Amino acid sequence: MRSISILGATGSVGASTLDLVRRNRAEWRVEALTANCQAVELAALAREFGAKLAVVADDSCLPALREALAGSQVEAAGGPAALCEAAARGADVTVAAIVGCAGLGPTMAAIEQGGVVALANKEALVSAGAVMTAAVARHGATLLPVDSEHNAIFQCLHGEELADVRWITLTASGGPLRTWTPEQLASATPAQAVAHPNWDMGAKISVDSATMMNKGLEVIEANHLFPVGLERIRVVVHPQSVIHSLVEYHDGSTLAQLGPSDMRVPIASCLAWPRRMKTELQPLDLPTIGTLSFFAPDEERFPATRLAREAAQAGGAAPAVLNAANEVAVAAFLAGQIAFTDICALVAQTLSGTLSGAPGTLDEVLAVDREARIRAAEALEHV
Ligand code: NDP
Repeated sequence: MRSISILGATGSVGASTLDLVRRNRAEWRVEALTANCQAVELAALAREFGAKLAVVADDSCLPALREALAGSQVEAAGGPAALCEAAARGADVTVAAIVGCAGLGPTMAAIEQGGVVALANKEALVSAGAVMTAAVARHGATLLPVDSEHNAIFQCLHGEELADVRWITLTASGGPLRTWTPEQLASATPAQAVAHPNWDMGAKISVDSATMMNKGLEVIEANHLFPVGLERIRVVVHPQSVIHSLVEYHDGSTLAQLGPSDMRVPIASCLAWPRRMKTELQPLDLPTIGTLSFFAPDEERFPATRLAREAAQAGGAAPAVLNAANEVAVAAFLAGQIAFTDICALVAQTLSGTLSGAPGTLDEVLAVDREARIRAAEALEHV
């Protein structure tokens, strides 16, 4: 039996992970489950899985969590420090599935325990790339990519040398607004932007998918996980989301990973790594799918991938600023405060200000994140 903690248990990735644990109950002991404020949902999961600890990041939600756990054996805690303490209790596998840079502290706390960290929380790696990868090496942790594209690349690189790689190609579905004109994009509503054709995901990543910022963040993520050089990482739009990414080697061979658009596939790969586990998913039916198509990204209508690449090239604080500004802009869009096309404009404006030097510690990354959020919030006033 192995122990598992899930940071962000009440979210979309959390639910997919718990579904796999539910189907393999004899193999897992649940240590800690966390949420932001969905206390009742968290308590129900903690009871169902017999978790030792349940934590809400927002401590104003702790009374509701305590009430919902009354009479159970589950310990309850609240607040950002409790979240990091939960991650630091150590588990054989920690699934880092909090959305946004809010997941950075707890993810780093899990890495410092030196176990397996299955990383979904791409914003943490984008903001703190060098700091996080150095911590992984220092603490002997194993970072496994949950993100379907990076999990695909990880699988395609198995037993290979990075020096033999010519290209890493990230596939992008293009999101629900892929074929929209600039005029239509300017009036896209939150409901339209989150209506992803292939994947059922949380609201923030769904909007990122519609703007293509998700792919931009993933280019930066890939650059940290698979350091072949930024110029060797490219993006192709593949609306069917059947091929999850590809690696081309110098000899002309290209390896790809294919599978259904279901996060339980890459999560299962992480949970069972270095082996495989059975899932109940429908097998890939290629004759029914019929056609796979590919397009070059259109950075005129969707400038996010260009912005992300520029931030990665600039290095230093730029990726953390890009991420923070995007989080602020997406929240404002979802709240109906700005237009869809303002998201990237706001990110570009925030990036154009003076940037601080490269953050070398977790606290420095968090300081850059805070400052960028203030700048992005100021920019919001003028949209
Ligand atoms: P969701 O919005 O569905 O879930 C987010 C989880 O994080 C919830 O448990 C939520 O708690 C918790 N949370 C939110 N804000 C905070 C906070 N400030 N502090 C602590 N916990 C918080 O997100 P997803 O599951 O879609 O995505 C999670 C991460 O995985 C993201 O980084 C995303 O980019 C990445 N990812 C997601 C994929 C997907 O298919 N969904 C695919 C690939 C990557 P509460 O419920 O209480 O709000």
